[in-house]
Amino acid sequence: MPASPFTRLHLVQAPHHPCPLIAGPCSAETEAQTLETARALAAQGVHYYRASLWKPRTRPGSFEGVGQLGLPWLRRVETELGMQTLTEVATAEHVEEAYTAGLRAFWIGARTTASPFAIAELAEALSGRDVLLLVKNPPQPDLELWEGALLRLQAAGITRLGAIHRGFSTYARGSYRNAPLWQLPIELQRRHPELTILVDPSHIAGDRKLVPLVARMGLEMNFSGLIIETHCTPEAAWSDAAQQLSPLQLQQLLQQLDLYATSSSSTPSLDLDPLRAEIDRLDGQLLSLLSERMQIAERIGALKRAAHLPIVQPERYRQLLEARLQDGRTRGLDEGFVRELFSSIHEAAVHVQQAAQH
Ligand code: PEP
Ligand code: MN
Repeated sequence: MPASPFTRLHLVQAPHHPCPLIAGPCSAETEAQTLETARALAAQGVHYYRASLWKPRTRPGSFEGVGQLGLPWLRRVETELGMQTLTEVATAEHVEEAYTAGLRAFWIGARTTASPFAIAELAEALSGRDVLLLVKNPPQPDLELWEGALLRLQAAGITRLGAIHRGFSTYARGSYRNAPLWQLPIELQRRHPELTILVDPSHIAGDRKLVPLVARMGLEMNFSGLIIETHCTPEAAWSDAAQQLSPLQLQQLLQQLDLYATSSSSTPSLDLDPLRAEIDRLDGQLLSLLSERMQIAERIGALKRAAHLPIVQPERYRQLLEARLQDGRTRGLDEGFVRELFSSIHEAAVHVQQAAQH
């Protein structure tokens, strides 16, 4: 495997915060709202301030951002309060305007990451400029698209690069606005251990009541920091009103997380080795059983071929799955997990049988 090209970002972290933090409103609405929110956050030691000027909206008719009108507001936040501001860029024109106004930190929104043309345009516009750039995952759970965008930007010479996990769209909305599908950012981190990945609990949760839970999950999974939408009057926000926190709510959340951070680091050192050895041993058995199972599937495949029978027999598969689900239930296993596991095993077995036929 080629070495990962990414290097860890050195982000400023306030000593009393549990992790590096970006906070600020979904959108800059007015100069007064931008500065009032920023002042409250600066007073808490927040170093990175977010506010969108250009808003990608799913439907027409919603607030599309103040655009370049807000650039001097963000510069005021930087010069008067000493914060670093970040805003969303989606086109080369946004980069040009924001960079010319003096901004040096940006993120790429979910909808933009989904388009390789847009990423190529941004890579060219940002190339050769010393900027901090964070790349949100695309709305669809497509890890290659997310990783591909990061690699494309890296190849354009942008070195201060990180990722933001903001959850994924699903057709049937569950309790989250965007399903966290933690296995995707975990896999991205596995492929690129040095890549800085922040979690955006606001866009995952979609509801301010759920933001603390998602923020805690993000830290428990060892991601590198948080980006949390914070607004001086959240209920009156022009976009994403349901998910923004007030500066006070943010402070309370950080205190709770800090308790968690300190309690986990002050836990007397745990000896997990014996249990981990057990897990390793069981995983070895699982793999050995799976390999045995595949060999039998291959023999079945050969017999089916000799008898000119189709490989997939839906009735047999239906019965098998029912029986496994039943068995799983009696063993206290999660039904969704058993279903996914056996659909995956079945798919692999079909594959092996197809290979045996050709
Ligand atoms: C945002 O950060 O306000 C935003 C629009 O996020 P996303 O691109 O994740 O939807
Ligand atoms: Mn938002």
